[in-house]
Amino acid sequence: MSELLDAVARGQGYSNLDPSILDGVTIPVGHGLGGAEQAGKSAADLLNLASGIVSSAAAGTDNWKSGSVCCMQCGGSDCVHAMPPSPTDVFAGYLATGKPNWVDFAHLCIDRHVEGFETLFVQRPGVVGVSIPGSDIESELLDSFRDAAYRVVWAVNVGLVPADFEPVRSGQDRIALSLLAVLLVRGGRPAVRLNAVGLDTDALDHAAGNQGSRGPAERVRRILAATAGRLEAISSGLRHEARVTGPEDVNRLVDRLAGGVGPVMNRLRSDLVAVFQGVDDRTRHGEQRARSGSRPTSAAFGDAESAPDESLLMDMVERTVIVAGPRGRCHVFTTDGRLVTSITLNDGDFQARIVHGRWRPLKESDISQFRQAISRRR
Ligand SMILES: [Zn+2]
Repeated sequence: MSELLDAVARGQGYSNLDPSILDGVTIPVGHGLGGAEQAGKSAADLLNLASGIVSSAAAGTDNWKSGSVCCMQCGGSDCVHAMPPSPTDVFAGYLATGKPNWVDFAHLCIDRHVEGFETLFVQRPGVVGVSIPGSDIESELLDSFRDAAYRVVWAVNVGLVPADFEPVRSGQDRIALSLLAVLLVRGGRPAVRLNAVGLDTDALDHAAGNQGSRGPAERVRRILAATAGRLEAISSGLRHEARVTGPEDVNRLVDRLAGGVGPVMNRLRSDLVAVFQGVDDRTRHGEQRARSGSRPTSAAFGDAESAPDESLLMDMVERTVIVAGPRGRCHVFTTDGRLVTSITLNDGDFQARIVHGRWRPLKESDISQFRQAISRRR
């Protein structure tokens, strides 16, 4: 049987397949009473079976590549679609034909109304995370392009992380990371593995070496290792189950796994965000004080009072009033006129909020109410 599989594998263009793909495969053996015709059919069945085993095993090994996402349109992880086109692009899911959909991290956050996304648009961006379940990742993907041997069970996108993995400060290059929990099926055997896309492991190791054990780089390394361990534990739990034999089995397994994988990935998201929020708290607070000192609140109220009606907007998610001031200055107020924060946006980021409907013109009745509230607070 090994020889048959080897021959089939060579015929399909693979060599050196893992021999363990044969473990537990049941080979139907005829009773030998059917004559030549039956024997011929058995041989054909056997060949089909062997061919199926080889392609599913090979699919599993081919599709997995650390740092890349499997492109189901091209059927592998080596094409140009398998990696983010820019360091700040993240994996948002699959397009209908199986091509990975890479999206600018900041735009993904706006689209999905991620809490705290405003922090991405200041001079020294903070770090936020977005968690996307597999059902979202593959919602557009057509069944004919689905790969039963490679399924994204969960994705977590985190950014904008300092490219040098040093504590957050101004002027650093920024990257975004896509961390995927992938279900791989090889020869009917399922396993869940963590894939970090957009992560330069050499840079991370280098930074960890420089910073010591309490620096952000080492903390990121430990968090990733702990997550990989938790997913490995979930994989171990699958070891004694029956083989996964078809797409239906895989669908059921993905649904079931989401319940265990989701919490692991959500924890990964909050742990990573905490690394870059916590390391620099003291300076961050100091700078915020300095910033509010250099731009007194009265400037925000001045902008609010002189703003024409069309510069008053409602944030549909936070239910706050946005005052679009001069030079990209935007002030966030509560509806009763308390200043929440001020941010500066470039034109594209400002327009993105309008286009996506997060910011809408303030209704006439709300405009007069807001103006009264502002004048009371001056
Ligand atoms: Zn491709």
